[in-house]
Amino acid sequence: MTEHKYHAYGAHNISNVPQFANLPEEDRFAIDVVSRVLPFKINNYVADELINWDNVPNDPVYTLTVPQRGMLAHHHFEAVARLVRDGAPKDQIDSAVAEIRATLNPHPAGQLEHNVPELYGERLEGMQHKYRETVLFFPASGQTCHAYCTFCFRWPQFVGDKGLKFASAEASALVDYLRYHPEVTNVLFTGGDPMVMSAARLESYIRPILEARLPNIVSIRIGTKSLSYWPYRYLTDKDSEDVLSLFREITGNGLHLAIMAHFNHPQELQTSAVAEAIGKIRDTGAEIRTQSPLMANINDRAEDWSAMWRKQVNLGCIPYYMFIARDTGAQQFFRVPLVRAQEIYREAYAHVSGLARTVRGPSMSADPGKVRVIGPVELPGRKVMALNFLQARDPDWVQRIFLAEWDENAAWLDELRPAFGETRFFFEDELAAMHGNALQELVFSAR
Ligand SMILES: *Cc1c(COP(=O)(O)O)cnc(C)c1O
Ligand code: SF4
Repeated sequence: MTEHKYHAYGAHNISNVPQFANLPEEDRFAIDVVSRVLPFKINNYVADELINWDNVPNDPVYTLTVPQRGMLAHHHFEAVARLVRDGAPKDQIDSAVAEIRATLNPHPAGQLEHNVPELYGERLEGMQHKYRETVLFFPASGQTCHAYCTFCFRWPQFVGDKGLKFASAEASALVDYLRYHPEVTNVLFTGGDPMVMSAARLESYIRPILEARLPNIVSIRIGTKSLSYWPYRYLTDKDSEDVLSLFREITGNGLHLAIMAHFNHPQELQTSAVAEAIGKIRDTGAEIRTQSPLMANINDRAEDWSAMWRKQVNLGCIPYYMFIARDTGAQQFFRVPLVRAQEIYREAYAHVSGLARTVRGPSMSADPGKVRVIGPVELPGRKVMALNFLQARDPDWVQRIFLAEWDENAAWLDELRPAFGETRFFFEDELAAMHGNALQELVFSAR
């Protein structure tokens, strides 16, 4: 197959893309303004093969990748727009942007403070260990993506590559940590997108795990949006074959390899490139599981989800999670209330066969854990909402049902009130104790 050369575009060179040059002036100005606050990067595959330009600005993949006016609060947009129009100096724009970003809750769910594991008394910054069985690993070289999603909450961490030496030091800290934590059964490589790394770089992280032959580790997972944003990663990049051999080596070593693929809309599954890439990955013995947040203006119709899950099963992927969009970034634009989210899930789920009903949700990745909205419960004289944990800081909380007051507007866990006049949900005292007492947290993560 002929090589497909990757070209990235941002606000600075977007006029090189003819489809953008043809947009109305007002839309191009909005891109310029909003992209100073939210991440903007698109590439030739997304622009040429995924976006349906006849449907812009309503096209879901366009909304997924291209900043739009409504993604910023009106007064934020106007503040930056005025500076840009007036040709304000760069440092003035930068400081206005920094102020706005600080209000967008870039590190939600206590992510930074609470989940960084320690080894020999030192914090391991590239890792998170929140749920007993799984360590999240953020390779320093994988902290960017083939294109950026407008809803993404990870943009504060997008940085450049720190080099091979840094990578191998990180890999050896990871292996040490896994060795001392026999309760961990799987490592999830995440980012950014680990699949932006060269095969050689990826291998420098994975080989030490394979060589350590840790009896506790049964699975390696790689979270990636590459199948959607750059399927040629597995087809025609110059090290595509090396990536596939590495996958084959992982499965050949008796480990389960799960590619956790992010797809947000069925439109991302229509090209022949993505179908072929899925086939190549599956040929290595890896499984592909899929996940996505539910977002207004992108995928908030039940048909989007049932079509997506059906197509995924058809192509050989396993639907895994439906998430609620986090309380960060352009959340007002993407916000879907919990009650509505659960209706969309239920309706989509009802329209697919059992093979696609492996998907769980809608789920909030919140501080105490992954909280699933089960749905309404009608009691004599009142209606409440049932929830449970799919994952929790304390494994003992998992699958326990708890009830909240019915609230059609609430869009996140912290907007819900416990039902029946209770003051706290069952897990809150223990959660506060975990956060208040560092020692207790260490005991918990090691247990
Ligand atoms: C979602 C998540 C995991 C993985 O959870 P699974 O239910 O095993 O897929 C691990 N760690 C963190 C912090 C997560 O948010
Ligand atoms: S691919 Fe993932 S990490 Fe990258 S911008 Fe999109 S959501 Fe964020």
